[in-house]
Amino acid sequence: MMAYKKPQSLPFEQMPEAAETLMALMHAQGEVARLSEREKLFSSLLVSVNAVLWAFDWETQQMIYVSPAYERIFGRSAGLLLADYNEWRDSIYPDDLDYAERSLAEVLVKGSIEDREYRIISADGQIRWLSDKCFISHQSDDRVIVVGIAEDITEKKHLEGELQRLATTDVLTQSSNRRHFFECAHREFEQARLQGTSMAFLLLDIDDFKLINDTYGHQEGDIVLQRIAESGRAILRRGDLFGRIGGEEFAAVFPGCSPEMAQQIAERLQREIQRLSFSHNGHVYGVTVSQGLTSYKPEDDLLDALFSRADAAMYQAKRQGKNQIVPS
Ligand code: GH3
Ligand code: MG
Ligand code: MG
Repeated sequence: MMAYKKPQSLPFEQMPEAAETLMALMHAQGEVARLSEREKLFSSLLVSVNAVLWAFDWETQQMIYVSPAYERIFGRSAGLLLADYNEWRDSIYPDDLDYAERSLAEVLVKGSIEDREYRIISADGQIRWLSDKCFISHQSDDRVIVVGIAEDITEKKHLEGELQRLATTDVLTQSSNRRHFFECAHREFEQARLQGTSMAFLLLDIDDFKLINDTYGHQEGDIVLQRIAESGRAILRRGDLFGRIGGEEFAAVFPGCSPEMAQQIAERLQREIQRLSFSHNGHVYGVTVSQGLTSYKPEDDLLDALFSRADAAMYQAKRQGKNQIVPS
């Protein structure tokens, strides 16, 4: 049996050193615990945040780090991506690939690119919008490492789209509203002026619309407005503009369209509207419209010139008995 031996106390002069070592040891242990707490916190943040953090070695063109959200947002394996960067490229929506690559390369010149947005197709076939910011992080051994944060902004994009739609659409008829119609019309006008191409402008006003409201009620009037807007949209060609610019007034722009062709389109619209049939409490009725039509002339400096010619032509149609198209 071992005899109990009283621990020898340290000589007085060594005491501070030992205490220091002990203190340092305890401090280090605390630091380790703190670091591991921090690491836990950090990884749980990385898992829950809806953004992919990534690091890319520019020289070897290899992804060297990707956070857990990659697998959730892209629906692909992080292991495969770390083995081959083409995994990321393969996810990019084909139309956006060129932009995504060029904007990534720009980071070498600019140091940071914060406005990169492109679409990816996730493994389940869904299109997602990413805001993928990237920055240069120079390493000590002169390797160029690009770090980035790719955030899933699909919902934000949808919301933006919805807001844009609400701001540009007339709620009742789902056509362009006046402001949006004229914004687009001004753009088309400038295009026609710069390129010397043709462009037609049409104004349409419902005949005796007040009578429809007075006879069948305002709600019935709303239905008429909706059906006329549908007819307008139905005869449009791709690139044509159509909008509700007033109570019962609509306008259209036909870019690149000759006056003869515009006349044909207006006639088709006239017939389409004449064919519409409405019924209210067993009472069947129809509506007619008056149209003023004009085309761009080289002396027209402003869109307003076309607008006032079409307006004058439309009032001429009213004076001549309504239900007709007057060219100007
Ligand atoms: P004209 O043949 O000369 O164009 O006569 P009109 O009765 O069509 O024209 P007027 O300008 O006298 O009346 C237009 C009417 O359109 C008056 C207004 O109450 C109605 N209106 C304007 N906006 C709306 C709307 O959003 N819904 C309904 N139901 N009626 C509307
Ligand atoms: Mg009117
Ligand atoms: Mg009217």
